[in-house]
Amino acid sequence: INKRKYILAGNWKMNKTNLEAAEFISKLTAKIGKEKKFEVVIAPTFLALEKAVDLTASTNINVAAQNMHFEDKGAFTGEVSADMLKSLGVNYVILGHSERRNIFGETDEIINKKIKKALEKDLTPIFCIGEKLEEREKDLTFNVIEKQVKEGLYGIEKEDVKKIVIAYEPVWAIGTGKVATPEQAEEVHAYIRKLLSEMFDEDVAESVTILYGGSVKPENYFGLFTKPNIDGGLVGGASLKESFIDLADIMR
Ligand code: PEP
Repeated sequence: INKRKYILAGNWKMNKTNLEAAEFISKLTAKIGKEKKFEVVIAPTFLALEKAVDLTASTNINVAAQNMHFEDKGAFTGEVSADMLKSLGVNYVILGHSERRNIFGETDEIINKKIKKALEKDLTPIFCIGEKLEEREKDLTFNVIEKQVKEGLYGIEKEDVKKIVIAYEPVWAIGTGKVATPEQAEEVHAYIRKLLSEMFDEDVAESVTILYGGSVKPENYFGLFTKPNIDGGLVGGASLKESFIDLADIMR
């Protein structure tokens, strides 16, 4: 019996105005309600977080930020701190998303600092990792994953690692419609768990929720989310539409 938390998370990226966000969340809460076996997490833009926390207050839906800075405060124009997120009632933060890594130049070292800060402030990090297409084609998937996991979790205590959610998102599957097969995803998830058990211990490896992300939609979720090492999903494109509500509904 696995003791892990099962999660369906939606990453809205730079989409939806506050009004659109509110309309969507109202539809989601109306359909999902309270009772379900897994947790739903939505990650709107920073600007819609307060509203999202408000609208999900008496539900089991949690709210995530899509990023944050690793410093507490100061001269960091355009950045948002962990305390600012906490003060709104946000309790998750997506860190190291491939778009942050590849478009905004975030390194493993920066992501490690962010994960540490999130843990210090009692925000649950959703720590994203994943290989690019050329890396997979060169058979470097496990090497890339190993580096991202080791550097991302560097210096973090066992008990804190257990609080982290990892999202395996092969970059070639993000927003491309090209979903990893359940076998491809399961192989990497099992590898991540093996790494965690080597770096920490078996208990840590068995405790960490590992989500799959990359073109998940209602038509393809089942084979993926029923694999033993896949504990739910991080959904991008399909989280903006009714399909996310359908997914949360059929997964119940
Ligand atoms: C994502 O960006 O986290 C993601 C998984 O996107 P998509 O579902 O659109 O591939």
